[in-house]
Amino acid sequence: MRRLFDKSVVLLICLPLVFERGGFITPVICILAALSCTCLSEIIPKDKAYALFIPLVYSAGTLFVPELLLLIPLIFYDIVLSKKPYILIIPTAALLVSLDSLSGRTLTLIIVDTIIALALSVKSLKLDGYEKKLIEIRDDNIEKQNLLSERNRQLIDRQDYEIRLATLGERNRIAREIHDNVGHMLSRSILQIGAMKVIEKDEAMKEQLTSVGQTLSEAMDSIRMSVHRLHDESVNLSVSVKDALSAISGEVSVSLDCDIPESSPTKLKLCFIGIIKEAVSNVIKHSDCDRVTVILREHPAFWQLVFSDNGTAKKIKDSGIGLQNIRDRAMSLGGVCEIDNKNGFRIFVTVSKKELSENENNNN
Ligand code: ATP
Ligand code: MG
Repeated sequence: MRRLFDKSVVLLICLPLVFERGGFITPVICILAALSCTCLSEIIPKDKAYALFIPLVYSAGTLFVPELLLLIPLIFYDIVLSKKPYILIIPTAALLVSLDSLSGRTLTLIIVDTIIALALSVKSLKLDGYEKKLIEIRDDNIEKQNLLSERNRQLIDRQDYEIRLATLGERNRIAREIHDNVGHMLSRSILQIGAMKVIEKDEAMKEQLTSVGQTLSEAMDSIRMSVHRLHDESVNLSVSVKDALSAISGEVSVSLDCDIPESSPTKLKLCFIGIIKEAVSNVIKHSDCDRVTVILREHPAFWQLVFSDNGTAKKIKDSGIGLQNIRDRAMSLGGVCEIDNKNGFRIFVTVSKKELSENENNNN
């Protein structure tokens, strides 16, 4: 739009000179030729070599139709916009060649028009540059804003995660306190009531003691149930796994894919959390990997845990007990554990749902 305005101004200041010469056909041909050249230079990419042909052809045309010189400021305008100042030589040469055929007044006016055209094109170039810079700054700002909101989101996630971790820790602590203190006192009271019943001779009193004993036993059962539920709820698989992985997430890239629901058996969750903790400490101690992948998946018939890293393969030493513990944990739930170190290090555990429920039934 800016260029259209500039070119219209240049054309308008050139037109009086063109029409002042009289006639109709030649001025119209000159105007059409100048307009065609200036339109073409808008269409043709400025960095292409053939863009040079426009001023070349127009300047050559001035040798045959000298009136074309009257509109040559338009050609100057386009050349400055193309940012190739050496091309200015072409129309300048055309002007110099035709110096004899131009009157002093006409030449002066052409030079004045050309200076105006050059000033307009320099101004346009500058404005284009400012506009480009402005767009760059705006894009940069948008990028920074996106980055900032992504950081904010990560921060909020991290805070949520820490709050959940603290809540779960607190729940576990309360469960432990009740279990250790109130549970202990209740069982002592039950024992004391039992002892009192033995030495008490009065039957009516014995009955009352029996009833108090029963109430205390019920209270004990109810507290045990609540404590176990509190403890079970405090075992959160995804939070605990993320917590375990946070020990290495600063050093290596960690990818976690967990679709085991929190409603899964607590034994399974504790088993997988324990395995992951050992695997993480092994990565810290033994691995030179830069990527760790953890997959925790629920299938219709079994649960699966895959912990792998891309470290360079080393011989597995028998000296430690960590890997043996991992195998034992899996076996205690009727599961299978495979460990291989061919491509990096990989721990693969599957626990069958049927085996686990049978296992639990046997224990009860
Ligand atoms: P700890 O008893 O404290 O766990 P440990 O880590 O040496 O000692 P294990 O966890 O049983 O013992 O591991 C046995 C061996 O397996 C290690 O000594 C090491 O050679 C190899 N190993 C375990 N994990 C990795 C791993 N991620 N990358 C490479 N080697 C490993
Ligand atoms: Mg170990």
